[in-house]
This record gives sequence, structure tokens and C-alpha cells, in this order.
Amino acid sequence: MKAISIDMGGSHVKLAVVENASILATDEISVDYGAGLRSVLPVFKTIIDKMLSHLGMRPEDCVGLAMGFCAMVDRTTGKVVSTNGKFDDATGIDLPAWCQTEFGIPFGLENDARMALLGEWYAGAAKGVDDVVMITLGTGIGGAAMAGGKLFRTKQVQGGTVGGHIPVLFTGRQCTCGAVGCMEAEAAGWSLPLVAKEWPGIEHSRLSTVERVDFRSVFEFAREGDAIAAAIRDRCLHVWAVGTVGLIHMYGPERVIIGGGVMRSADVIIPYIQEYVRKFSWTPSGTVLIVPASLGNDAGLLGAIPLLDGLH
Ligand SMILES: [Zn+2]
Repeated sequence: MKAISIDMGGSHVKLAVVENASILATDEISVDYGAGLRSVLPVFKTIIDKMLSHLGMRPEDCVGLAMGFCAMVDRTTGKVVSTNGKFDDATGIDLPAWCQTEFGIPFGLENDARMALLGEWYAGAAKGVDDVVMITLGTGIGGAAMAGGKLFRTKQVQGGTVGGHIPVLFTGRQCTCGAVGCMEAEAAGWSLPLVAKEWPGIEHSRLSTVERVDFRSVFEFAREGDAIAAAIRDRCLHVWAVGTVGLIHMYGPERVIIGGGVMRSADVIIPYIQEYVRKFSWTPSGTVLIVPASLGNDAGLLGAIPLLDGLH
């Protein structure tokens, strides 16, 4: 089974032609999400046509086009329902009609975090596991859950997708979502510079010399013995571990998959969260396994087949 797959990130868009769990062709473009979605749709069309032609395929050789979108979406109507500063014009675009006009094939839309979980379930670290939660640590924190082999969804479209906004600190920072002390307001790419800026003694850390504090610098400097960087790293680990326990108590998974660029430091992150979960979660069926995502940036693309196949 073949499909066209588009993974809409915040600043990059990945496009691919996939066959089951394999990527036949792929391309990636940088986009200015502030400029909106409408202006990049013709670029998508050009890239997809080029990939198909290179493979000697026609659009109708594909079961459909699947799109993972960084927003709240309604997969039953194929509509983007609510955005958070990225591609804000998308709520007014009829994407199924665009797909029909340009390619003549069915369109499938899903939230990007759910697509990543679908991909990991279909071909990665969640293969063979039907009760699973995925957390993606990045600029924000993505969350998705699956129960009994089905993505957790509710009529209210956000159901199961806002794990990054689980509160971990009631005296915490105001989050972009309107709540206070969310996991992502305390330890995500966007909030990390704010945490570092307020840290007592930050001027004595190498972190005060970087233009923008990110996870790479925090983990790297911590490894090299920077005490402040190590303290900030440990706070991030603690926040993620507390959030993970919250998600385990909420969804009752047998496995939690953790992905995102910061998982370059999986050797530090996984054992920390695993130990915290072992100590502090209430799981009578046994300790929930914490594992790193295995598909990296391809997870969202590989969610295409299970999404379009009607399994989900
Ligand atoms: Zn929030």
C-alpha cells in the first residue's frame, strides 16, 4: 500500500511517498509558518509531483494523502480547528478539496503528535503495543495516547493531544495555552531560556554566553561539569518525569515512548524517568516501560498508512 505523506512541523515541512513502513522518496522544506499555509500549498504540489514522477508513479497509485498538522484538527471533516501561532490561515482552507483538485485522491488529516505515535506504533518503538503514550520533547511538548490499539480521541478535538500541557507546578509559569505550570511551560524549548534567565547564579554558567539557551547547550555543558547547567538539566528531567507519571495515571499505558531532538541525550533521560516512574507511579500491573522513539523525524510520515487504511 502506498501513500503521500506530509508532516507539518512548526518551521519545517517533510513530504514523502511511502509504501507501508518504507519511505520511497522524501523531501524537506523550510517554511515561514507566519506566512500561512495557503502560500505553500503550490510548493507541496510541485514537490509531490516531482517525487511521484521520479518513482514512475501517479497520484492514483496511492491510497490517499495523509497530513500531520501542528494544531488541533478534526479528522472526520479534514479541517484544522484551532492553531497556536502556526499556519493560522489553515482553519479557513478546505484541505480535502485541495487534495481532490490537485491529486484526485482521499485526504486524511491528523494532529502531528498523534501521527508520530501512529508511526511508532506501526513501525517503531510501539510496535505490538496497543496501550501506549507518546511524549515528544521539542520547542513545545507533544502528547498522544493510544488505548486498545486505537488513538485516544474525543468529540472535543483536543482529547489526548495536550499531554504537554499537563500541570506539573501550580505556582509555575504562565503557559501559551492559558494554563499555569504546564509541563511545557516549565521544560520545553520555548520556556527553557526563561528558566535559565531566572536561575540564581546563571552569570557564572557558560549558558550565559550562548545567544539562546537550548537543550543541546544545557545537556552538553552539564556533561562538561557546568554546575548550573547540570542543575537546570536535572530540573527539566524532574519536570518530564512528573509529567510522565501524570500521563501514566491518566491513560494506563504499558509503555511510554519519548521522542524529540533532545533524545540525543536518551542515555541520561530514559534512566532518570524510568527510575522516577518506578518509584512514584501507581501501576499494579507492573512498572511501565519508558523507551526512546525509534523513528526520529520519520515517525509522522510513517503514520500515513495506518491513518489512511481506516484502522484509526
Ligand atoms: Zn499549557
